[in-house]
Amino acid sequence: MIIECYDIGGTKIKGALIKKANPYEMICQVQVASERGNPSKLLEQIKSVSKQLRSKANQKIDAVSMGFPGPVKNGILQSAPPLHINAPLDIRAGLGAGEEPVFVDNDLNMAVMAELYFGNRPENFYLLALSTGIGAGIVINGRPMHGSCGEFGHDMLERSPSLANKCSCGRLGCWVAQASGYGIEETAKKQGMAVSCQDVFESAKKGSKWAIAIVETAKSYTAHGIGNMLNAFPADAIVVMGTLGIKQFKSIIPPNGEIKQYTINSVPEITATKFGEDIGIIGAYAYAISRLK
Ligand SMILES: [Zn+2]
Repeated sequence: MIIECYDIGGTKIKGALIKKANPYEMICQVQVASERGNPSKLLEQIKSVSKQLRSKANQKIDAVSMGFPGPVKNGILQSAPPLHINAPLDIRAGLGAGEEPVFVDNDLNMAVMAELYFGNRPENFYLLALSTGIGAGIVINGRPMHGSCGEFGHDMLERSPSLANKCSCGRLGCWVAQASGYGIEETAKKQGMAVSCQDVFESAKKGSKWAIAIVETAKSYTAHGIGNMLNAFPADAIVVMGTLGIKQFKSIIPPNGEIKQYTINSVPEITATKFGEDIGIIGAYAYAISRLK
């Protein structure tokens, strides 16, 4: 069985063919920069990636499984802010898909399936995405939660107007506006430095005081955010994904003692996903397998 898998994000489209094995075998991957603000061009890009993938396999594809950065209802992408898509988009119709089943869902829902199937996690866990956005997948009693849950990134953690950054939701001071990659860049900008998030972390590692202060502040917001998550539901593990969370894990994930200041519940082990940047496509594969059973 071969599944054509996609992780479609605001910066790149990642496609892969994954074969059922023990547990799976990555046959090939194709990656391109994603077209933002133009749904028809985005669909053309996906078709082109599909063509490249299929030319490499030369075998029957059993299903297509795609994660998008936005809410999905009955296979219809409702919106995708990172792709600047503001109106519903029927992915299956837009791609002119063939006979095989096409699964479309939110990218975090897909990623959760990778941890659920192949992560060897406890029955109750969070998958915390720290990237340009912040949000969490929630698994309770081995079942992933769906719908508008896990939007912890919009917890308002900073109420001081001089410190609060503007959030994509229109409010001020959300966790994501303060401590995501974007939030860290905004905070640096307020201090007169037009630098990338990566620059801030590199400068901090070299001992630069302004950068250390920004990273420590972001880490403190993250302690508060994770504390709130644990107050909502005391999970037995927290798995971290997303470029910021994986690459800067040691700098941005607070020690358990710091998180404990914000929660009445115990703080579980926090680890980075072992799937790294492939969690989205492996999740799309697990999602398809779970539905084809
Ligand atoms: Zn917000």
